[in-house]
Amino acid sequence: GSIITSPSIKPINKSAVHRICSGQVILDLPSAVKELVENSLDAGATSIEVTLKECGEESFQVIDNGCGISPNNFKVLALKHHTSKLTDFPDLQSLTTFGFRGEALSSLCNLGDLTIETRTKSEKVATHLTFDHSGLLIDEKKTARQVGTTVTVKKLFSNLPVRSKEFHRNIRKEFGKLITLLNAYALTAKGVRLVCTNTTGSNKSSVVLKTQGSGSLKDNIITVFGVSTFTCLEPVNLCISDDWKVEGFLSKPGNGSGRTLGDRQYFFVNGRPVDMPKVSKLVNELYRCANSKQYPIAIMNFVVPTRVCDVNVTPDKRKIFFSDEGSLLKSLREALVKIYSPQHASFTVQNSE
Ligand code: ADP
Ligand code: MG
Repeated sequence: GSIITSPSIKPINKSAVHRICSGQVILDLPSAVKELVENSLDAGATSIEVTLKECGEESFQVIDNGCGISPNNFKVLALKHHTSKLTDFPDLQSLTTFGFRGEALSSLCNLGDLTIETRTKSEKVATHLTFDHSGLLIDEKKTARQVGTTVTVKKLFSNLPVRSKEFHRNIRKEFGKLITLLNAYALTAKGVRLVCTNTTGSNKSSVVLKTQGSGSLKDNIITVFGVSTFTCLEPVNLCISDDWKVEGFLSKPGNGSGRTLGDRQYFFVNGRPVDMPKVSKLVNELYRCANSKQYPIAIMNFVVPTRVCDVNVTPDKRKIFFSDEGSLLKSLREALVKIYSPQHASFTVQNSE
């Protein structure tokens, strides 16, 4: 007869699971800051300030003037899968917020030291909250603050030895990636003032990025890249089908100024910054028909019904699945061929079905 022993397949303990998952949501400095900026945008902020100490190595902070967090949410705020944005799976189909999984704050708690200051318009004073690594609220005190929220993370990755080493070794690179990412939000967020400053050892604070929060993509491009770059661009407005549109700007045929492949190429889906390698490849390939010496700048927003895209593909939400990607790429190719063919037609293409 067989001897019954306890199974060798056992559940991993809860805190190890938390650490494993957190490390997938928060990959690096840019993804950490991205989550906080998205929370501020979801909170309806019109002013967002990102302040870094030592390029984020020591700490980073996101200060907003959004709606704030009400006291009845303090205890559950940084618990895993606690969100005010989604309660049931079908809601994912009609998602209009950046966040939806309730993982960012819990992951940041797990991977760094997290404190939050927040105040809603119903409160006269703000509250300063301290959380432990499991997401539990361990301290709460009154403080002064305008309506809005400040989230501070210190010592990111100090409890993940390998990631921590990488983080410190690559800090310059991560900082650069962070700026690129903040540029994407500066381009897409309309009417939101975005400022990023960095303070280094000598206590010198420098402004890394500053936008005014204008109302149009055009103005945002001018603020982020300058007016001379803007004059090299042509607006693109494509109607791919009744409810699929592409709006944005592409380099004029003779005026590519992207220095390297992928330089200043930003793709958005319904205003959400995402990676679109296939679209990028297509744009680069067809631009070569018009200009073989340079790469195009591309700033393109795909306006599609929320039901046709799935943003819940990767933990960092940068990858997106379309229900009919093939025909999107085909229509885009046809439109770009018209734009970049040597006889150069028009940047506004109405596709006939
Ligand atoms: P998600 O964004 O997926 O909901 P998070 O962990 O990023 O998950 O945030 C958890 C919740 O905390 C949010 O649903 C929101 O209610 C609240 N929150 C986080 N950051 C802010 C902020 N800056 N302003 C207002 N509320 C916030
Ligand atoms: Mg979030």
